Amino acid sequence: MDNRSDLLDMTFEELKEALTAMGFPAYRAKQIHQWLYSGRLDINEMTNLPKNMRERLSGEFIAGGLKIAKKLVSEIDGTRKYLFELKDGNIIESVLMKYRYGYSVCLSTQVGCRMGCAFCASAGLGMVRNLTVGELLAQVLAISNDIGERIGHIVLMGIGEPFDNYDNVLEFMRRINREDTLNISFRKMTVSTCGIVPRILEFAREGIPVNLSVSLHAPNDEIRQRIMPIARKWSFDELLAACKEYTKITSRRITYEYSMIENVNDSAEHAKMLAEKLKGTLCHVNLIPVNKVEGTAFSKSSKARIEDFRRTLEKYGIAVTVRRELGSDIMAACGQLRRNNIT
Ligand code: SAH
Repeated sequence: MDNRSDLLDMTFEELKEALTAMGFPAYRAKQIHQWLYSGRLDINEMTNLPKNMRERLSGEFIAGGLKIAKKLVSEIDGTRKYLFELKDGNIIESVLMKYRYGYSVCLSTQVGCRMGCAFCASAGLGMVRNLTVGELLAQVLAISNDIGERIGHIVLMGIGEPFDNYDNVLEFMRRINREDTLNISFRKMTVSTCGIVPRILEFAREGIPVNLSVSLHAPNDEIRQRIMPIARKWSFDELLAACKEYTKITSRRITYEYSMIENVNDSAEHAKMLAEKLKGTLCHVNLIPVNKVEGTAFSKSSKARIEDFRRTLEKYGIAVTVRRELGSDIMAACGQLRRNNIT
């Protein structure tokens, strides 16, 4: 077991304290901090530190502790999927997407997931542990370093339920927002939840303009409970009330994600039911043709069916888009990321 502390888990002040306690001058903290946030996560490559200092540091610290175990590049759209091995041998996946406005990374927040959604590959192997702040950060830094480009957008939509790892996720977002780290604006970050009601209410009061997505996937309790176990804990109406409260507090629009699953949630009647529930609220609906996941029996709705669904929502004045699928040839699309996938 590697018991070394992670430099990326520390704030700048904590780093300075740790170094002074080891007898190093405080200005070294600034140098190390700069290396870390430029994506150099190997202490031995921090060449403006004396060699014996690097040796002592390597004995006590790691930086993120991630190794790129595998990298897959989509032939369709250039999307990249990274498989990272964590310091304890666990595997997570992250995805790099290129848009007109720059690079965006989709990060994992946990090793596995305990939410158990019936259509999602991340649910398959259960949940092992939360990712640390350092491991969240290291995903961004390692990818940025690998492509030699700045990452402008962060989406917390990989493996895991971000609001089940609330404190680390919040600290991570605040950390990368700082000018002396990655300087990524809150408005360029998105966090997605399957609907953990108390956390939505807590998040509303954090005072940071991060985008919130809520995975809805159904127009009522009956269907939602069938495909998402979390729906048995909080009803559709309780979830919607929390979302309305969020908007009241933040004045921000919520994005509802709705995976289109053939013959499960995609009929004209379902569209109407959903529209009735959402009309008049400040929202945006993102329809996602459900992606194939081994071991599940769900199929994508047809294009025509999705189009009809979209039109019904629009008739009610609801903003709606159909999500572009990226990286489906490398199993990097929504819901296709898994914990164990090294071969
Ligand atoms: N746990 C969070 C973060 C995951 S985000 C959440 O539930 O929101 C990933 C998004 O992809 C979620 O909206 C999730 O419900 C959706 N998803 C999962 N499996 C999918 C699949 N097979 N096809 C399309 N979308 C899927």
